[in-house]
Amino acid sequence: MPELPKSFLRSLASLFPGDALLTAPAETLIFGADASRRHALPCAVVRPESAEQVAELLRLAHAERVPVYPRGRGTNVVGGCVPLSGGVVVSTARLNRIQDISGEDFVAVAEPGVVTAELQEACAGKGLLYAPDPASAKFSTIGGNLSQNAGGMRAVKYGTTRDWVLGLTVALPGGRILKTGSRCHKDVAGLDLTRLFVGSEGTLGFICEATLKLLPKPEASASLLAVFAAEEDALAAARMVFAAGILPTALEFMPAEVLAGLAGLGPVPWPKGSGAALLFRIDGSAEAVSADLSRLRRAVTPARPAHLDEARTPKEEENLWEPRRQISQAAFTFGPDKLSDDIAVPRGQVGQAVRRIREIGRELGLTILAFGHLGDGNLHVNVMHDAALPGEAERALKAKEAVLELTISLGGTISGEHGVGLTKLPWLERMRGAGQVEAMRAVKAALDPHGIMNPGKGY
Ligand SMILES: Cc1cc2nc3c(=O)[nH]c(=O)nc-3n(C[C@H](O)[C@H](O)[C@H](O)COP(=O)(O)OP(=O)(O)OC[C@H]3O[C@@H](n4cnc5c(N)ncnc54)[C@H](O)[C@@H]3O)c2cc1C
Repeated sequence: MPELPKSFLRSLASLFPGDALLTAPAETLIFGADASRRHALPCAVVRPESAEQVAELLRLAHAERVPVYPRGRGTNVVGGCVPLSGGVVVSTARLNRIQDISGEDFVAVAEPGVVTAELQEACAGKGLLYAPDPASAKFSTIGGNLSQNAGGMRAVKYGTTRDWVLGLTVALPGGRILKTGSRCHKDVAGLDLTRLFVGSEGTLGFICEATLKLLPKPEASASLLAVFAAEEDALAAARMVFAAGILPTALEFMPAEVLAGLAGLGPVPWPKGSGAALLFRIDGSAEAVSADLSRLRRAVTPARPAHLDEARTPKEEENLWEPRRQISQAAFTFGPDKLSDDIAVPRGQVGQAVRRIREIGRELGLTILAFGHLGDGNLHVNVMHDAALPGEAERALKAKEAVLELTISLGGTISGEHGVGLTKLPWLERMRGAGQVEAMRAVKAALDPHGIMNPGKGY
């Protein structure tokens, strides 16, 4: 791995005094991995406290052609933070201030290292809602969420992180600070540079501050668990809910294999051998939620649910959603090793995708779990296997490839919310085509001509 130029290191030391600069491998080691479990050792880690420090770093790194790897909490699962060629990891741990929460403008301004749940709670304390809600909200950051365009269960009703960003302050290679967007909820003046940076996986610039859109916090919420004898009935029930004009906040799908796996962890309310389950959440005013819960029950009834369970208080809702949170653990009933993907298909193709993914598993003698965000067609796919058995890891890889091929053939995408990073890189061109990837690289070349920002990731 190339070492950092001595003069560059000296500049780093004066720009990042004390423990804001780490260079000893024992200290930098943990900054080389993320939730993908890939690892590479960075040459240095810096912990800036201001946008000006980041801009100066990017001026120096641009001049010396030193790779720069932005890092939030390292919870991405695609190798997005791994410092492939050494360089400098830039942690947002000390850029963690909430600058403003305005109930007048319905806007929050936050630095990138703010943990998402902290922003959600601070907004809720003022009667406001920051809507994006990745399952990792308690341990991922606003900067990471923006860079991956994080989704989550509430995306059915509220969309993804991209839909809630109004403006950004971004430090660019060369040292320029770019301010995009505004505090306005509507703003169509010029190209939308704000959203260009959202989902760019740290490859274009370093997000130093974000202006985010807020809503009034809904007064109430409620949930419904509906379990069906057959998978087709569950999918039909989901269609009936939308056809009845109900827009759930969340709509999750759990197939038979997942229900059986969860039953293996402890007592479950549904009958043994159930075909599939749907979990709905709705929110709004107390009156609207109560009325919508009745409409929801009526809407799924023609699909003959074998079990219905509703939750009206936060405690009841927490209990009802507990099995959904335990899926990751339940998956290991089917094998000690897991290859994970998060595909998305057009919503009308979800049933077809789930059936054909199951067939791929059968053909290769593996259990593949396809479950998750039915409401927006985003499925989590876990290929369960035992890598210690001869040939099984190879078969799991084959299964993963067959699932991604299938996804593309159904008009879907190789990632609904986790991003491309390092691990999905070989698939991007197969899905988007050479022309689009070339255009992406041209955009990068315009903003980052020496390719110092998170090289080797995304596209
Ligand atoms: C248990 C678990 C549950 C999860 N659930 C969800 C989910 O429901 N929905 C979902 O979408 N994802 C989910 N994820 C994935 C992950 O949490 C998200 O991708 C999250 O947005 C990453 O945030 P982070 O702070 O950890 O970012 P990191 O992993 O540190 O970084 C992610 C990417 O953003 C870049 N980056 C970080 N900060 C900046 C910055 N300031 N400027 C420029 N680039 C930057 C990094 O270089 C990297 O490419 C889950 C992960 C785990 C482990």
